[in-house]
Amino acid sequence: MSLRIYNSLTRKKEEFVPIDEKEVRIYSCGPTVYYFAHIGNLRAYLFMDNLRRVLKYNGYNLKHAMNITDVGHLVSDADEGEDKMLKAARRENKNPFEIAQFYTTAFLNDMKKLNIDMPEIICKATEHIDVMEEYVQKIIENGYAYKTKNTIYFDTSKLDKYGILSNHNTDEQKAGARVDFDSEKKNSTDFALWIKAPENHLMKWNSFWGECYPGWHLECSAMSRKYLGEVFDIHTGGMDHISIHHENEIAQAKGYCGKIPANYWMHVEFLQVNGGKMSKSLNNLYTLKDLEDRGYSPDVYRMFNFSSHYKKPINFTFEAMDSAKIALARLKEGYKKHLTGTDTVEEKVIQEFEEKFLSAINDDLNMPQALSVIWDLVKYEKKSPAIAQTLLKFDSVLGLQIDKEENMNLPEDVLEIIKQRNIARENKDWNKSDELRDKLINLGYTVKDTKEGTSVTFNK
Ligand code: AMP
Ligand code: ZN
Repeated sequence: MSLRIYNSLTRKKEEFVPIDEKEVRIYSCGPTVYYFAHIGNLRAYLFMDNLRRVLKYNGYNLKHAMNITDVGHLVSDADEGEDKMLKAARRENKNPFEIAQFYTTAFLNDMKKLNIDMPEIICKATEHIDVMEEYVQKIIENGYAYKTKNTIYFDTSKLDKYGILSNHNTDEQKAGARVDFDSEKKNSTDFALWIKAPENHLMKWNSFWGECYPGWHLECSAMSRKYLGEVFDIHTGGMDHISIHHENEIAQAKGYCGKIPANYWMHVEFLQVNGGKMSKSLNNLYTLKDLEDRGYSPDVYRMFNFSSHYKKPINFTFEAMDSAKIALARLKEGYKKHLTGTDTVEEKVIQEFEEKFLSAINDDLNMPQALSVIWDLVKYEKKSPAIAQTLLKFDSVLGLQIDKEENMNLPEDVLEIIKQRNIARENKDWNKSDELRDKLINLGYTVKDTKEGTSVTFNK
């Protein structure tokens, strides 16, 4: 059963045919590390994880690169506004390199907590300045760039067509050029490749054009070419990347080697909060830690994301998180029931479920459909370890670790109390065990002792 995916480049669902059938090459736009990732950003990486797992389920090996934008990136994608990294450095009274280091570690921690199957290559922009420099020089040599006093711009008028991904009409854009249009730019869609650093600019590198720093779009083009070649299979990112960032990546690659860098472009829709935008000013911007503090494990957030197809917006509410929490617990319970079941189930039945599951995930990663197949299997009237095994196989795509007990992702001090209590129980020291249980209850946790062990959950 072949895998079909929606390609933003052709605006069609297409059969996925890799360039090299032994190894699929993917590039994902990674985070700008100037603050904690919010749960909207995390949806983008859960989507990336989902794609990886579906490709692996189909038997493909992967070579996947994701960048970390640790060079200042302007507040707007279109080379405007304040530099995000510098702004954070001022806010936290640190230098931009410290900011980048701190939030890169925080991001990678979130990835681990969410059980994200990580790309084989994680590449930091600051470690690839030389690669970018070489890339930009070739664009200049090929005649696709021009220099102004302080900036080397990409000349979008040199392309047959700029805006193929979002079907931009460049003429219309020119006519409606913004008031603050940089007078040195030849066309409104031109963008910065290489920028002269002002004297007090902290992130700068000595280059062929003096002390400079790269434009944001350049890093993805230069690093994807380095690790994956001029043309690779799949490029992923959020919907907001379509109109500027990915158009500019395509423009740069055309200027560099005349080719569109990826055959398939996949974009994940936004997470909304209570039907609207997530923003600091609306006080509805949550991080993974915020969810954990309210008693939702990262797995619950993962489960919540399966309730909508990646190409549809998903609405975040705490009610929906409560449903996801219950659903995840039921799924784990269902798995256990089958694991300890004694019925026999015909091979044919299992095969039918496997076919339905594969057809759902291969239909452009239709996870809501895949979940409904899983529920049918969980509820199957006969209880058998063979079904438990099949659920575990499906879980290689879900990544929910249905065979693992809860208790993960609890705060360190709580884990320590649980550990001490387990020791007390092993020693049959019931007084101590009760004392520690009361301590957990006072901290707001529910403690349940079962045959399989102790489960501790936070009461909201
Ligand atoms: P940034 O760190 O701002 O470059 O964003 C990292 C990723 O998160 C990008 O792929 C964005 O497209 C994506 N993203 C940002 N906001 C949201 C959101 N509300 N829902 C889903 N993805 C988002
Ligand atoms: Zn990118």
